[in-house]
Amino acid sequence: MLEQMKGFGRGALYLDVFKEFNGVKAFFSTKEGACEGNPYRNEGIFKSLGLDKMTAVRPVQVHKDNVEVIGDRQLRDAAENALREIILPDRDGMITDKADVLLTTVHADCIPVYFYDSVRKAIGLVHSGWRGTAMGIASTAILKMMEEYGCRPEDIQVFIGPGISRCCFETGAEVYEEFKSKWSFIDNFADIKISDFGIGKEAKYYIDLKGIISRQLIAIGLDKGNIQVSEHCTSCEDDLFVSYRREGGTRMRMGAGIAMTAREFTSEIF
Ligand SMILES: [Zn+2]
Repeated sequence: MLEQMKGFGRGALYLDVFKEFNGVKAFFSTKEGACEGNPYRNEGIFKSLGLDKMTAVRPVQVHKDNVEVIGDRQLRDAAENALREIILPDRDGMITDKADVLLTTVHADCIPVYFYDSVRKAIGLVHSGWRGTAMGIASTAILKMMEEYGCRPEDIQVFIGPGISRCCFETGAEVYEEFKSKWSFIDNFADIKISDFGIGKEAKYYIDLKGIISRQLIAIGLDKGNIQVSEHCTSCEDDLFVSYRREGGTRMRMGAGIAMTAREFTSEIF
């Protein structure tokens, strides 16, 4: 984890994710590497990591838990399109076992969750805001990797990336109640502050989305030692990140991306 933070600071375009693994390239862009709107394109980052020649998958995110499996059919369609892009309406996550396919999501506080199985050669990426986290989108992606590719949960590496953290994710009772109705462990990941205004008390909740995602994944069999959790809070760290919450709305989005490289496959064959 500390290794990943080296060289990541003011002026950096991105955080290098999973750099300890050979067969995969992944990033999370900083404010410096952010782009306006959706889909996400930052040629500087793509070129720096050798991702610019790959077919890119760009979901149109809707804060739900739909995860698409990217396979030969979509890749054939993309080969006929000049931009070599796969646009996915109504999706917040994707998995693939194909090399040279760049999965992307966009973020402005919501949590990116990256998956890599170096044994079965499969990757996944999801956009997990509070709604997606309450629905368990990260677990949905893992279950699909198991079903589609025969991945074993203990082989899957996870990076829960920068996003709005417990310090800043203040909500009203409705968000807390939504989690409470679905996840029995929510009270380990929420602080409750009661303000007394004399005329009535108001409760505010501070929810740890990254902690909840990690707990959900452990519940379906992932190894705690394979789950890395970024300590960066996009809302606190004004110099490094764009934040929808802090800025009261923004069109700027930071990108998350992950791809397997064909080169490693070749080297394994020979
Ligand atoms: Zn914070």
